[in-house]
Order: sequence, then structure tokens, then C-alpha cells
Amino acid sequence: MVATDTSLTDALVAALPEGSVILNPDSMHAYRWDRANDPDAGMPLAVVRVTSTEQVQTVVRLAAAANVPIVPRGAGSSLSGGSTAIDGCIVLSLDRMREITVDPVTRTVVTQPGAFNAEVKAAAAEHGLWYPPDPASFQFCSIGGNVATNAGGLCCVKYGVTTDYVLGMTVVLADGRAVTLGGPKIKDVAGYSLMKLFTGSEGTLCIITEIVLRLVPAQRPPTTLVATFATLEDAMATVLAITKTMRPSMLEFMDRVSINAVEDVTKMGLDRSAAAMLVVQSDEPAGHAGVEIAEVEALCAMHKATECFFTDDPDEGEAFVTARRIAIPSVEKLGTVLMEDVGVPLPRLGDLVVGIEQIAQNRDVVIAVIAHAGDGNTHPLLVFNPNDKAQQARAEIAYGEVMDLAVSLGGTITGEHGVGRLKRAWLPGYLGPDVLELNHRIKAAFDPAGILNPGVVLDPAWSAT
Ligand SMILES: Cc1cc2nc3c(=O)[nH]c(=O)nc-3n(C[C@H](O)[C@H](O)[C@H](O)COP(=O)(O)OP(=O)(O)OC[C@H]3O[C@@H](n4cnc5c(N)ncnc54)[C@H](O)[C@@H]3O)c2cc1C
Repeated sequence: MVATDTSLTDALVAALPEGSVILNPDSMHAYRWDRANDPDAGMPLAVVRVTSTEQVQTVVRLAAAANVPIVPRGAGSSLSGGSTAIDGCIVLSLDRMREITVDPVTRTVVTQPGAFNAEVKAAAAEHGLWYPPDPASFQFCSIGGNVATNAGGLCCVKYGVTTDYVLGMTVVLADGRAVTLGGPKIKDVAGYSLMKLFTGSEGTLCIITEIVLRLVPAQRPPTTLVATFATLEDAMATVLAITKTMRPSMLEFMDRVSINAVEDVTKMGLDRSAAAMLVVQSDEPAGHAGVEIAEVEALCAMHKATECFFTDDPDEGEAFVTARRIAIPSVEKLGTVLMEDVGVPLPRLGDLVVGIEQIAQNRDVVIAVIAHAGDGNTHPLLVFNPNDKAQQARAEIAYGEVMDLAVSLGGTITGEHGVGRLKRAWLPGYLGPDVLELNHRIKAAFDPAGILNPGVVLDPAWSAT
């Protein structure tokens, strides 16, 4: 599916405003990779930077006529290779579509997909409102990418993930038609729930060009508790004890490798000898937050926390949340990282984390683990030296073993980052043949020619027989 002549690029240049189409290979370079850093990223035919739904329609119609694949791209922070370019594709960048309009009456925001999550939060805050989903990348990921991956985040343990806030969207389909679903209304069950289907569809079913999101009243200032543990088992038992009895607004986990990686960068005095650290927040109303955090403190003590303290000071609390947020870039300083996103039912979280440690030992690879622990969603980061091919091979084996372990514990191969290109091989085993077939039927219904992000989520060469 690689265009061999310049007819498509000429047509794109003719149809779109000046400066929309990038053809220079050097300038296209920045659009080839996402944060998964796939060494097999392809070379696009063109990068197109659009500013409206109509322009997206033009690009899709021209690409469809030429049978050229499109890779939709928000901010390129995907950790699963979802926005990695393929050879001969058009990278359709939504990064210039950044308009945001807040309606405080309906408590909704209408946003174009390229706006950063942080920009949507800031616009809502001007009206005393809040858009809760907060991927650790919220300062540099787009809201369209969040919807396309159904992103989670740190406060999602209490406030839910992206799909819980999507009330409406305009999307461009693979044949170039634009359709609008939902809107600023709270309840709507008319017809099949296409918005739920498109949320998390990773650019494979449609291109999202406008989104209506629900907002809630501003979050109360949280109380933050930090606890360290000498063993993974004690930390995991604490997580389970907390989630059994309460719903904190944050319940995050870092293991020894990630604590040390963050300490290398921040020098903030984290306990390098701890096997695990939990960061817990309560945003209950004044008085109640203190009660909830005191209960968490008691549970930490009951499960042999080596150190535990809490603070009402927002800046002090934020320093620990930031430590958790920068864990991924900090671990990336240790070497090349293969990132996982496996999740399990909460009672199996301990088995998962301890099992990952075992895999790291067996395969002699470094695996740092951070987790949205209250959601049972872990991010094992497998670190290797790209010049050590034997080590890289062991890391790649361990990568699969971690997903197999999660599935064997009743879990999933991805909790929030999406299947992308990197986890596609594990999807059939996770879904089973019947559900896999349903997935392929849905893809065929919305994108029969397979031009939208081919190779992401599903194998384009799949056959049921
Ligand atoms: C340090 C770090 C921390 C992170 N923490 C979290 C976290 O806590 N939680 C979490 O969920 N993720 C996290 N991520 C992953 C990533 O930020 C999210 O997946 C995010 O939602 C991707 O947004 P993006 O704009 O960068 O999308 P991109 O990387 O550009 O694209 C991601 C996918 O969405 C598709 N896409 C993008 N825009 C559109 C559109 N408008 N229409 C259709 N398809 C589209 C792409 O084709 C691709 O498949 C983290 C990443 C980093 C680097």
C-alpha cells in the first residue's frame, strides 16, 4: 500500500492551505516515532498538519482514493507504538487543532483533539471546574490521543478514566464522511454506543476531530501520604487492605528500581533501600480527608511500613506525585526501555508484582515497576543496553512472559496504553478466537480497505480460517 508516484502528494498540496503538507524527509523525521521508540518506524510519504474537520475529510478522501494508509497522530506520547509511522503512510497530525470552549452552564468543554490534556484542565479551572483524567503525561499528551487510547491516570482510581467523561465527539470515517455523536447531554442511550467503541480505538476506526467532555467541580486540595515498605508483599497487602475499605483519590506504587531511578534525578531524599513506596491521596472534604488518611496510615503500620508520613501542604504533596510522574523518564535514563501496561484484578496484584520480580531474576534483566496500584494496573519497564544483543533478546522474552503472567492471573495485556503495534502479537491469545473475530468484523465494518492505522491493534493479514 505504498504510493509510488507524486499524484497523492500533489493533490494534498493543492487541496490544503500552504504549509499543511510536509514532504521534506528531515522535517518528517520528528513525526516518525512515538515514545515507544520503535526501531522499525517507517518513512511516511507525507506528514499533513490539519486545522479542521473538513481538512481531515479532504485528507482521508484523497488517501482512500489512492489506497494509502493514514497514521493519526496527536502528541506522539504513545508507549505502545500506536502513532509510529509506517512506510509510505500519511501521518495525519492533529497538533494544530487546539481550540477549547468551556460551557460552565452544562459543565462541559468542547475541544479540538490536538489540545494538551493540561490545556483542557487549565481552561476548565478558569471556570472553577475540573477535567479529572490525568495520565502522568498530561502536560504533553493530546486530549484526542487520550480519547483514542481511553487513557487512565493517577486520580482515575476514584474518578474514572477518559471514557467516563466523553459525552460527544465528531469523527471522520474511513470513507471521508464526518459524523457527530452525543453532545452536552448527560444521558443518551439512543442507538449502539459508538462513542464507547471509538474511545480506545487507537486511530483504527476513525479520526476524532472534536470532543465534548464532562467537567466536575474543582478538586479539593488533597492530603498526601507516603509510605515505604521492606518487601513487595507488605506493600501489596496494604494496597488490598486500602481498596477493600475506601476509595482514595490516588493510590500509586513504585518499586526499588524506580525509586532509585527517580532519586538519581531528583535527589529529594527517597529511601533507596525500600522495596516499595506507596503515594496515597485523599481529597475528601476538610476533616474527612484527615480521617481517611489516618485509616490509611493505620493500614500501612499494620502491614509493616518502614516509614510513613502525611502532609496537607499541597506543594510537599505534589513533590511526591511529581516523583511518581517522572518515574518513566527517570528509568529511561538507565537504558533502552520496553514498556508494559499489564493489569490484574486487585487480589492478584501481589502475585503479579512478585512474579515480575521473579521474571527479572530468571532472565537477568532489570525491570522497574510502577503502578496505578488502586486500579491493579502496573507499568513494568524492562531496561536493556541496545548494544548488548543477548541482553536485549532476554528482555524481549521477558516482555512476553510478563504479559503471559498477567493473563494467567486473570488480567489484561494493556490497562490504558493500548495494544498499539508492540502488543499486537499477544492480543489473539488474550481475546480468544471468537472475540478476535468480532474485533476484525468491527474493523472491516468501519474501515473495509484497512487504511486507518493498519497494524495497530489487529493484524491486517488475519484470516479466520
Ligand atoms: C512519561 C509518560 C507517562 C505516561 N503516563 C500515562 C498514564 O498515566 N496513563 C495513560 O493512559 N497513558 C500514559 N502515557 C501514554 C500516553 O501519554 C497516552 O497513551 C496518551 O493518551 C497518548 O496521547 P498522544 O496525544 O500522545 O497520542 P499519540 O501518541 O499521538 O497517539 C496515540 C494513539 O491514538 C491515536 N490518535 C491520536 N490522536 C487521534 C485522533 N485525534 N483520532 C484518532 N486517533 C488518534 C494514534 O493513532 C495512536 O494510536 C504516558 C506516556 C509517557 C511518555
